[in-house]
Amino acid sequence: MKFYSTKNKLLRVSLKEAVLTGMPPDHGLYMPETVPTLTPEFLKRVPDLPFQELAFELARYFVDGEISDDKLIDLVSDAFPFDAPLVPLSDHIYALELFHGPTLAFKDFGARFMSRLMALFTQNLSKELKILVATSGDTGSAVANGFFNVPGIRVYVLYPAGKVSEIQEKQMATLGKNVIALKVHGVFDDCQALVKKALADKKLRESFVISSANSINIARLIPQIFYYFYAWAQLPETKRDKLVMSVPSGNFGNLTAGLIAKQMGLPVDRFVDAANRNDVVPEYLQTARFNPRPSVQTISSAMDVGNPSNFDRILDLYGHSHKAMIRDIWGKAYSDEETRDKIRETIENTGYLCDPHGAVGLLGLQEYLEHVDNTATGIFLETAHPAKFKPVVEEIIGKEISLPERLSECLEKPLLSVPMENDYEAFFGVVTRNE
Ligand SMILES: *Cc1c(COP(=O)(O)O)cnc(C)c1O
Repeated sequence: MKFYSTKNKLLRVSLKEAVLTGMPPDHGLYMPETVPTLTPEFLKRVPDLPFQELAFELARYFVDGEISDDKLIDLVSDAFPFDAPLVPLSDHIYALELFHGPTLAFKDFGARFMSRLMALFTQNLSKELKILVATSGDTGSAVANGFFNVPGIRVYVLYPAGKVSEIQEKQMATLGKNVIALKVHGVFDDCQALVKKALADKKLRESFVISSANSINIARLIPQIFYYFYAWAQLPETKRDKLVMSVPSGNFGNLTAGLIAKQMGLPVDRFVDAANRNDVVPEYLQTARFNPRPSVQTISSAMDVGNPSNFDRILDLYGHSHKAMIRDIWGKAYSDEETRDKIRETIENTGYLCDPHGAVGLLGLQEYLEHVDNTATGIFLETAHPAKFKPVVEEIIGKEISLPERLSECLEKPLLSVPMENDYEAFFGVVTRNE
């Protein structure tokens, strides 16, 4: 399959080029040239497939001709050694738990698939692949873990000293091996400026393949399609007919993947875009006006995005038709207060503990089921483990929560980060040194 730029449909590149460059030269976003349509026979088989097999069968449509089946089977089983279980909260509301990967958030799916694709696509190059990532926390840990131990690739994660949470720092800076964590004396924008300069540095490009593995890479979107099918397949058969899926959204990669799944033939009646106070997209759905603005801080911090990059992909999917888009997406924004109350109320009534992002998803889902359509079955995406936001969640429920083993283990490990001045020569030195 070829991929085009949202800014120029005539530009067509291979998956390899789309993945290794990340972004088209015209600064659009890559999109698959056709959305594959699944046959009813295929859909009938979906409930019998374990996640890895389903991932393989769906990925084939997108890697078509560029990766052999044998290699693709190995790739998906290596990328996804964890599950995405569907957990009932009531007889018509389910949580799709996407936090069973190494960094306890759904970004593991995208980061692990992308890293292995990149490794495959650079296998026969004589140059080493260097991934440079600037992070204010969450993305860095998913990417660092995604590339950890992947042969032929070295990762440099730059984060601002003192400006990331303890859990985030431990998740990025205790790995070692091919992951080099650089603790920069500066702010996030300094880290980003260093990465941008390195990506444009001709001298570095002579010796290495340099990539940024950024969040808009199409390789991060593709694997997110898989778990929408997997969620539907886990529903009892009688509840698969009319389904609503609620997606707590920030940069809208996750929702975009769901919309692609629907176009491929997944029987979802409607999607809910559940937002926090950063409500640019719900506002667009209501008014047909898109008005990006600076983000505001909330307790569902991974959704604090004021100008979501993937919105252009959604516009593209609907041919820029507001009318077509609102047929498939209903959106609403919620305050931190409502999110806190929802976390408290849910654990009291059902025993289920949501993280702040999942709670926003649940708020949107319940409002939809109560006021728009009370005949549907609802699934909300639980995008992170509540322990990832331990201080916030404990304050809300007034109780300590325990950490999953993979997190407590990493908290006990020593930090291996290398302090670095906010200085390009210093960064260049680190990247070109061959340990
Ligand atoms: C990144 C993130 C989101 C937002 O996902 P998008 O694809 O950017 O919309 C939601 N929840 C958590 C926990 C995240 O890390």
